[in-house]
Amino acid sequence: MREELIEELPFPAVISEVIKSEEEPQHKILYFNTEFYKKFPFISDSTGLFLEELFGPVFAEPGLSYFSYENQNFYVFNVPADTNKKLHFFVEESEWLRFPHWFHRDRLASLGKLAGEISHELNNPLSGILLYANLLKEELPQDSPHHLWVDRIIALTQRCKTIARGLLDFGKPEKGKCEWIDLNWLLKKVYELVKGYPLFRHINFSWKLYENLPAFYGNRVQIEQVILNIFTNAAEAMKGKGEIFIKTGIKNDHIVIKITDTGPGIPKEVMPYIFDPFFTTKEKNKGTGLGLSICHGIVKKHKGFMRVYNTKQAGACFEVHFPLYTREALREDDL
Ligand code: ADP
Repeated sequence: MREELIEELPFPAVISEVIKSEEEPQHKILYFNTEFYKKFPFISDSTGLFLEELFGPVFAEPGLSYFSYENQNFYVFNVPADTNKKLHFFVEESEWLRFPHWFHRDRLASLGKLAGEISHELNNPLSGILLYANLLKEELPQDSPHHLWVDRIIALTQRCKTIARGLLDFGKPEKGKCEWIDLNWLLKKVYELVKGYPLFRHINFSWKLYENLPAFYGNRVQIEQVILNIFTNAAEAMKGKGEIFIKTGIKNDHIVIKITDTGPGIPKEVMPYIFDPFFTTKEKNKGTGLGLSICHGIVKKHKGFMRVYNTKQAGACFEVHFPLYTREALREDDL
């Protein structure tokens, strides 16, 4: 068992030496990782101490045990590592929700691959739909009432292409095409797109857009996806009925987009995990749990950050912060 290996674990972990005695075996600490030190800082130099002395007799049984330390509950996994050596790692009870996702990290790699294949397979038929819809549009008489429908087909097909590409980005972030974007205009554009969806039929949008918002240099399609995701989550949280309030402004050298809903808000115990891939509280087959983790990735790539909190009135508020760039400060190759 190489010691560095446990440094990579995102949980406190210890390698112990099993000392056989007449009673229960004791576990002497040989090595502990940084996470362990962070979680139990009072135990500054624990090498040579017995785990039993620190936390109680829960290290002998292979598999899962449980103990309390300073009013916090921990799960501990005991795994035989070598002759006479064991690996123990600790998961705080409140972190439990996150734990399965850590195990499923390899799913991300296969998802990336699958997404690549899906995206590839979808792209040709979608391009076909776009082509025929455009041909149809050209053939329609100028005053035909069907222009609106064909325009919707074109817009929605483009969205499908974007989603397929977005999924591809998730597995393997691609270099995007960047341009100067008026974020107020982009918010309105996404609104125009969603307002016809059944989910948004009874959602009222209200706006407070900062008039002289500076343009932001970024990937329009990706930022559109972030906005769409936040809108959709809000509408779903409100079960299709309520209000979405959109505000833009400038704060501390950042452009800030604030999207507030009148839904139930995000429960405290769920809040730390909403940006984790595959974390969803939605019914089976309704949510993928990828939406916000993709948003987070996109905003981060643009050197921004996201904040979430519940409002006093109980809804959720998502803030997206983008840095105010000057043209000289831009480094396109970063995006
Ligand atoms: P998905 O939408 O597939 O569940 P996301 O990553 O977009 O995945 O969202 C993760 C979780 O965050 C949701 O399942 C939900 O619990 C929570 N969430 C996101 N937005 C809101 C919101 N506006 N109000 C309440 N909960 C939200």
